[in-house]
Amino acid sequence: ELVVENLKKSFAGNAVLEDINFTVADGEFFTLLGPSGCGKSTTLACVAGLEHPESGTIRVGDQVFFDGDPRSAVPPEGRNLGLVFQSYALWPHMTIAGNLALPLKLRKVSGPEQKRLIDEALDKVDMLHLRDRYPHQLSGGQQQRVALARGIVYAPGVLLLDEPLSNLDAKMRDQARIWLKSLQREVGITTVYVTHDQVEAMSLSDRIAVFMHGRLQQVGTPTEIYETPATPEVAGFIGRCN
Ligand code: ATP
Ligand code: MG
Repeated sequence: ELVVENLKKSFAGNAVLEDINFTVADGEFFTLLGPSGCGKSTTLACVAGLEHPESGTIRVGDQVFFDGDPRSAVPPEGRNLGLVFQSYALWPHMTIAGNLALPLKLRKVSGPEQKRLIDEALDKVDMLHLRDRYPHQLSGGQQQRVALARGIVYAPGVLLLDEPLSNLDAKMRDQARIWLKSLQREVGITTVYVTHDQVEAMSLSDRIAVFMHGRLQQVGTPTEIYETPATPEVAGFIGRCN
């Protein structure tokens, strides 16, 4: 369970997040949806510990990551989270297996155990046969899967995905969406997904939090948000066609 309470953040005096509250249940696929610049990535950065909010609390289960005081914040590497960003940045000079080994080495996992975890994660995304290739020898969609495998290789408590499909073309994105949903079901991992694409949010999510201008407008199931939007802004955003 990820709990975010009363999160506030500004950059150079501009409020970017104002009183953000949400709880993601164990195993839930939870999406932060909203237009560009509304504060989605900043929220994930605060959860990951890459940015500190001005106030608020962030915890996973009973582990408190942030309690309002940056001095007592748990550093990013101490937070048991998997991160996959839009620009899935694989290391070009390392094989696929080497890329997955890196987070395990950081966590001091032994050699044989590394191999077992790497092969297991690559198998989950159907990329085991490409384990010894280099990133440039893979298609964009394949690299995307490897980035996801790297995000889950050390079995994090929560997986944070920031627009992980945005570099794919429309057709590949449709396939990747189906595949991502089945992966999430299979692994059963608590997932926070960020997108500005309402169709993607509707098709993937157990619940959606709609962001506008640094505020949460509504949190609910896709059906609730579609059928009973809380504000005209939500209705406008959801109703807009792709
Ligand atoms: P997008 O869909 O375009 O990725 P987003 O919802 O992820 O948008 P954020 O990246 O969270 O939006 O940015 C929210 C606001 O905060 C924007 O106005 C952005 O310019 C600003 N911002 C984000 N990071 C910083 C930073 N490090 N310094 C200053 N301003 C920032
Ligand atoms: Mg963003």
